[in-house]
Amino acid sequence: MKNKSLNLPWAKINSFTGNHTSPALTTYRPCPICGGLHSRTLLVFDDFQFYSDSAEQPKRTQIREVQCQSCHAVYLNPCYTNTGFDYLFAEAGQSYGSTDGRPQEQIDWMVTRGLLDDDKVFLDAGCYDGRFLSGLPKSIRRIGVDIDAPAITRGQERYGSDGVELIHGAFETFQCPVAPDVISMFHVLEHLANPVEVLCHLRSISHDETRLIVEVPILEYGKNNDINGFLSAQHMTHFSAHSLGKLMARTGWEILERQQMPDYNGHRILVKPGESSDKVMGDVSDRTRVSEYFENWYRNQAEVARKIESWPRASRIVIWGGGMHSEFLYQVTPLFQQDLQCEYIVVDSDPLKQGKSWRGLPILNPDVIQDVDWDDCLLVISSYGGQEAIARAAVNLNVPDSVISRLYDFVKVY
Ligand SMILES: [Zn+2]
Repeated sequence: MKNKSLNLPWAKINSFTGNHTSPALTTYRPCPICGGLHSRTLLVFDDFQFYSDSAEQPKRTQIREVQCQSCHAVYLNPCYTNTGFDYLFAEAGQSYGSTDGRPQEQIDWMVTRGLLDDDKVFLDAGCYDGRFLSGLPKSIRRIGVDIDAPAITRGQERYGSDGVELIHGAFETFQCPVAPDVISMFHVLEHLANPVEVLCHLRSISHDETRLIVEVPILEYGKNNDINGFLSAQHMTHFSAHSLGKLMARTGWEILERQQMPDYNGHRILVKPGESSDKVMGDVSDRTRVSEYFENWYRNQAEVARKIESWPRASRIVIWGGGMHSEFLYQVTPLFQQDLQCEYIVVDSDPLKQGKSWRGLPILNPDVIQDVDWDDCLLVISSYGGQEAIARAAVNLNVPDSVISRLYDFVKVY
């Protein structure tokens, strides 16, 4: 039994050499909130890899987070082009946040405010495949729009006969067949390169009494203990309550209600058409909030680094988790640098990842770890929310407790 794990394709970090970048992936832009051209750099990753290795497709790019010197909004610059988005996020699963938040809570919230009363025209901007719309009452007219063509096609097949109307189009130019009474954008705005154009377009297709619901994560609640922090590589704008308010004022939306969701980072606002104003000033206290955010994030990195240093050295490591968390593990912790001769495999239960590799490490079905000889080998769980579920799955695959290595002392599960 001793040498069984010799048969697994152990590999050293960065042993795949074909990964590369392309200038077509990103483009510079003015501040997405105020249009300002001056910013300060907050954070740079020079060589960030998006998911699996590829010699054919550009999968690496620089990630640079900046803060506007005029309005203090925090944003990604350069941001992804449409081409870049297609290459970098092809393996990310759902392009927008349709898994974020809580659909039933969102529906109850809208019912309480009369937003789902009979015969209302409801538009979901960023509808993905229409699954959220499919859960709304049939007594309203349900329309969705998204730029993700395959998702729209799938949704039309799945929900079309049920009366859900799905439109494929860009959020800043699509044609809506009728002025909507209610528009929802749950966890969409932070993914868009040009939120001003999108909100102006939504205002132009609305009537005087249209209500728009926007929910985004905000900087004020961005502190947690996950190394893949609030400044997510998937988000093009990192809103604060203030920068969201300024964006709304600039695009002609008047805020009626603001609400912080208690159990996950979601800041929800209900707005209606109003006067547009460039007069709303940026909030300089967003500078302090950014410092407080980084203070917390770097402390988390130090805690994780101390934990890694405290583990027994092993000549082999199994990484469980082939997603973006592992790229953060590579970028912000010493795990892969402390012994360049160390050999790894990655396991992940997502069949779309299996058979590929990440930074040269083969991604395999977790079942293979039943064959691993755990003498001189660790299992590192590379997931925040999934840490305990993975630990249980590892025990079920006969991994000894003593080699299961957790990065986090506690996990806040949403
Ligand atoms: Zn700005």
